[in-house]
Amino acid sequence: MNKNIRVLEKRKKIALIAHDNKKKDLIEWAVHNKKELSKHSLVATGTTGKLIEDALDQPVVKLLSGPLGGDQQIGAMIATGDIDVVFFFFDPMEAQPHDSDVKALLRLAVAWNLPMACDRSTADFLMTSRFMQEEYSYELPNYTHYLNRKV
Ligand code: PGA
Repeated sequence: MNKNIRVLEKRKKIALIAHDNKKKDLIEWAVHNKKELSKHSLVATGTTGKLIEDALDQPVVKLLSGPLGGDQQIGAMIATGDIDVVFFFFDPMEAQPHDSDVKALLRLAVAWNLPMACDRSTADFLMTSRFMQEEYSYELPNYTHYLNRKV
């Protein structure tokens, strides 16, 4: 069976997203990891991106604000292989106007076996993984059966 291998370069394409009640947390975490983050390229939803850029003094590709389509942009980039790692500090205590988009983003990250941290301690574990510093190859889930299904 053909294996579909994806290679993440040393320099990762990192996505950063935080809901409003979690923005302070993500910014603090990012400042704490400023040196590490500077080795990678950053993309973020609009408001989060502005805050990160100011806090780190590092360029961030800013997409639309999350509820206005930014979460869907990130989801699409996950599916097309344009994002390697996701740090998504979502709010577990408050419903969001774009809950369906949040769910879609989380689902796509899992569908593509993408490393993703949704809270600060997991973010610490992920950020300190040796795979953040080196090339990392992994097998993509095999969707051939699904793609070739009879319809
Ligand atoms: P924001 O979006 O960074 O534009 O606030 C985050 C989100 O709610 O997904």
